Amino acid sequence: MRRHEALLTVINLYIIVFTVPFFYSPLTMRDSASIVRQISLGCSEGGKTFEFDEQHDRTKPIRTWFQESTDGLVLFIVFYSQACRWSRCLGCNLPSTCSQFPVNYRDILKQIDAVIADPEVQEKRWNVRKLIVSNNGSILDQTTFSSTALIYLVLQANLHFPNLSVFSIETRVEYVEVEELEFLARAIGEGDSPTELELAVGFEAFDDRIRNDVMKKGLSKRVFETFVEKVARYRFRLKCYLMQKPVPGMTDEEGVRDIHDAIDYLSTLSKTCTAADEPPVRIGIHVNPTYAAKGTLLEKALRNGTYAPPNLHDVARAVLYAEGSPLSVFIGLSDEDLAIPNGSFIRAGDEEILKELEAFNRTQNYNLLRAITT
Ligand code: SF4
Repeated sequence: MRRHEALLTVINLYIIVFTVPFFYSPLTMRDSASIVRQISLGCSEGGKTFEFDEQHDRTKPIRTWFQESTDGLVLFIVFYSQACRWSRCLGCNLPSTCSQFPVNYRDILKQIDAVIADPEVQEKRWNVRKLIVSNNGSILDQTTFSSTALIYLVLQANLHFPNLSVFSIETRVEYVEVEELEFLARAIGEGDSPTELELAVGFEAFDDRIRNDVMKKGLSKRVFETFVEKVARYRFRLKCYLMQKPVPGMTDEEGVRDIHDAIDYLSTLSKTCTAADEPPVRIGIHVNPTYAAKGTLLEKALRNGTYAPPNLHDVARAVLYAEGSPLSVFIGLSDEDLAIPNGSFIRAGDEEILKELEAFNRTQNYNLLRAITT
């Protein structure tokens, strides 16, 4: 090698070893610091007082459980990752189950391996019809949940759940990119059984003031409707989370009426967001009775007597209204151990009604709800 070539090689090496990290590493660190700041800011704007869970084993998910639905057996997985960047919705303490800091994709891959290796999952894997994937935030937010992990999860789902029919992803609307979804739907479709992609998003409340001014959801109807049109175009399924009586100052009756209004709105939207000659978009609602979550303004309101969670009779009354609508319905009946003592919507003596509501989730038999409300 001649002298000037050797010199060029040294210069190139210098650029690669010193200059590139100088430009990129500090930028990456800045990005990462800014996400940590966004999470803190969201929490402080939402009046949250909880701590994050930094002690969690990063190679294990937060929770997995099975539930029965009209789709059949459901495996619900909540992965441990960096917390929701929005973090400000009034009654939500889901970020407290997450880390404030990034969780490396290699650790999330180990979480997926741990789910697949779980003996109960192995025993039931042939019967699993639906997979719900959550990180108590947004799975499609690439900055808090690794894309590599999502692709790996699809691969493992195709290999281990041969009878899967729905792959459901929880996310905020703003992280939905159609190109990514098309790719995911194609990959999911390569499994042994035909599998649809479902997007599960929090719509929470019909009333704009309650949803955005009080709850701080940050989701306008215009943005939501544009999102539903996209979902309809690609024939994906949609699940909308609704919260019954989500904020202080709402009466029980107003809580029920808001669910009725949401049912009317989503029923109409399922038809109007597609072309006249196309079938309506498939929308399911997941109605969560609100609980007073630790470290939120609802905890404060419960303690000072300005808030009480809805009762299960009113939940049945709210949901009964969906009879005859094109919507499928699931009632969320777990507070995932995140409610403060006496802050749950399940009260002493609710055992029988709970069983009836669980049976409704499996069957969509509205007579069960009618029997509760009469
Ligand atoms: S409800 Fe969802 S978007 Fe809102 S703070 Fe909780 S996890 Fe984030």
